[in-house]
Amino acid sequence: MKKRRVVILGSTGSIGESALKVARDIPERMEIVGLAAGKNVARLMEQAREFSPKAIAIGDEASATSEIRNQKSEIPLHVGEDGLCELATMPEADMVLISIVGTAGLRPALAAIEAGKDIAVASKEILVMAGEAVMTAARKKGVQVLPVDSEHNAIFQCIEGRRPEQVRRIILTASGGPFRTWPAGDLEKVTRAQALKHPTWVMGAKITIDSATLFNKGLEMIEARWLFDVEMARVDVIVHPQSIIHSMVEFVDNSVLAQLSATDMCFPIHFAVTWPERVPNRLPPLDFTKLAKLEFEAPRTKDFPALDLARWAGTDGGTLPSVMNAANEVAVAAFLEDRCTFPAIWRTVENVMRAHTNKPHATLAEILDADAWARAIAVEKIAAV
Ligand code: NDP
Repeated sequence: MKKRRVVILGSTGSIGESALKVARDIPERMEIVGLAAGKNVARLMEQAREFSPKAIAIGDEASATSEIRNQKSEIPLHVGEDGLCELATMPEADMVLISIVGTAGLRPALAAIEAGKDIAVASKEILVMAGEAVMTAARKKGVQVLPVDSEHNAIFQCIEGRRPEQVRRIILTASGGPFRTWPAGDLEKVTRAQALKHPTWVMGAKITIDSATLFNKGLEMIEARWLFDVEMARVDVIVHPQSIIHSMVEFVDNSVLAQLSATDMCFPIHFAVTWPERVPNRLPPLDFTKLAKLEFEAPRTKDFPALDLARWAGTDGGTLPSVMNAANEVAVAAFLEDRCTFPAIWRTVENVMRAHTNKPHATLAEILDADAWARAIAVEKIAAV
């Protein structure tokens, strides 16, 4: 198998740094040809010194100061969203890893597909917002969309080689987050520090809060719907506090396949980069003698309404998933800045969704409009909850 030449969009984040660990582990299989960050220019430059990519990009225009733009370097620097697209389409790349938090990776992802690159997607928000557009474009171009989200990567591994009609149900596992066993009444008092303490994964701030509200699982339900082309009714969630089973697929013969590994995002990244092969790595194997137990329980949908809101958005489709996602991003940012309570996150999202007039067969432009509308309305609604 030849070496995969990879561009990482979001290289300074939690997923980006894990991807660089994978690159250090399997240099004979993975070459870094492009690196892009948002604001953390100092870390981006360190990474560029270590990996000598063919080009780098800074997504946040204000962070690309004139001093940085005028620096003498052999590595070309691109700036802004256009700069990200430039990297996503560079001729030296075979694969683009989209690991930018939020929806800023959407245009670069579509540009990469258009240029015939395989994409590895960590940024679930772009599939929630525009899953249909991304998957249709990928099919048209004959490029692969490889899921990096651990649950979807697990499902991809279980489903590979099966026909869609053989699949009865996709079962996403959820850790349940830090408040899995808290009484509903106590959720009003949740602090930022408590919500940022995930029981099993170390991740960026936004996804950690999403895991605590269960919006992360809600976003993943919609992500699964598009990645695997199954209707929402066939996407289920089960709480599995140990996060060892990353997800499961039930087939029509009532057999269930599951994928298991230690909780380290290097696993799905390694899989995506080396797919369709299986390549040795230095990641820790599972020691079954040390796994005390694997538990399962039904999610508390009444106390954590995110799952029902996501099911509603995913079932109705159109612009509604994008509205849910955008309102959630705004509410999470407000919670992280201590501007609203923890339950205000889902109350705001629900209020914005109720205020929206859905466009069922939306174009990409309409989806982007709905996203902007929801962000503006969410700011108003947060103050009211
Ligand atoms: P982080 O907050 O740790 O990192 C976000 C990355 O996005 C940083 O590199 C940041 O750059 C970059 N970024 C933000 N805005 C821009 C922009 N406009 N242009 C270019 N780069 C930008 O997030 P995570 O790594 O945790 O998550 C990234 C995505 O992966 C999210 O969508 C998340 O849902 C998904 N994911 C994450 C998992 C995890 O374990 N962390 C697991 C599964 C999915 P900078 O820091 O320089 O500003």
